[in-house]
Amino acid sequence: MDLKELDSKYIAGTYKRFPITAVSGKGSVIVDDTGKEYIDMGSGIGVTSFGISDDTWKQAVIDQLSLIQHTSNLYYTRPCIELAQMLCEKTGMKKVFFSNSGAEANECAIKAARKYASVKYGNDRCVIATLHNSFHGRTLTTLAATGQDHYHELFTPLTAGFVSFDAGDMSVPEELCKAGTLAAVMIECIQGEGGVIPLDPEFVHALSEFCAANDVLLIVDEVQTGNGRTGKLYAYMNYGITPDIVSTAKGLGGGLPLGATLLGGKCENVFAFGDHGSTFGGNPVVCAAAISVLSRIDDALLADVRKKSAFIFDSLSGASGVESVSGMGLMIGIKTKKAASEVVAGCIEKGVLCLTAKDKVRLLPALNIDDELLKKAIDIIKEVCEN
Ligand SMILES: *Cc1c(COP(=O)(O)O)cnc(C)c1O
Repeated sequence: MDLKELDSKYIAGTYKRFPITAVSGKGSVIVDDTGKEYIDMGSGIGVTSFGISDDTWKQAVIDQLSLIQHTSNLYYTRPCIELAQMLCEKTGMKKVFFSNSGAEANECAIKAARKYASVKYGNDRCVIATLHNSFHGRTLTTLAATGQDHYHELFTPLTAGFVSFDAGDMSVPEELCKAGTLAAVMIECIQGEGGVIPLDPEFVHALSEFCAANDVLLIVDEVQTGNGRTGKLYAYMNYGITPDIVSTAKGLGGGLPLGATLLGGKCENVFAFGDHGSTFGGNPVVCAAAISVLSRIDDALLADVRKKSAFIFDSLSGASGVESVSGMGLMIGIKTKKAASEVVAGCIEKGVLCLTAKDKVRLLPALNIDDELLKKAIDIIKEVCEN
């Protein structure tokens, strides 16, 4: 049996894969089992922040792997503590909880918000308001937080205590707050899976002021937008707001599984012994990888991300077959005349890997993608959109 047949025989049927078997790669080039090369405009799904098998990242992983690969959280290890310090110093947040994925980072954010509100105001204040068209993960609780009904069908009952509302409509959080039930509001500054849609700054500011005035916690889900992706370290920094809780994952480990929940001043001490935990969370190898990633996301790199972004926007805006371009930094959505899936298939044929988000083509290339490769990929995308 070939791999495709074995996959459908043995792998649970949750994924629709593209017809490519990835074998190896370097930087923003992926090689398949026939030796064909592809320019990688997706980095997994915004995960391989510095590309495939990056030398600096790989060395950081190997160095830690040679020392100790796992200890559990019963002992101190240097990488996880140093990474937490780095995250706090770069954001002004106070404490970090490490897990292994975006959904888990959000679960922790939700638990932190629920406990904060419960201790201070009682158990009725438990509702987390999220936005329509949001995406917060696949566990039953983060599905409940995800404001898209089609993800919920056939998996009910989901975790109670979630209400979703339209971006821009402050009346829902206001009413919940008046009723004394609103613990937190959770947003993605740029809705990723929802179609690469940046929130309106005016709404984000209004929400942030509302939360601060009412002691409602503002949770920002930076799972996809974080770690340099939008041209700032975290997307909320583009909006000039201060969240109470930040969750992040995807690009943080550069290709190894890591989630982090950053707790601000209000809830830095919300968790006590036994309130939460993770067997793998804070794994030293994964944290060493993340230290390597984070230490490279400096002002020069972020300026370069914004430069590459401007190049993509300039090249695609108004191009034939392109209806609109959205996003920030290297998180870009392209509304095309052709169906997005058709564009992605055409790009694969010509050696470029792209993603989709709803009805858009989505690009999440490595933060350090080589400028010539980027130009080559954009030229091919334009060509495919046109024909
Ligand atoms: C991908 C994603 C998640 C879920 O992350 P997993 O690592 O797949 O659990 C949550 N929130 C946002 C915004 C995401 O893009």
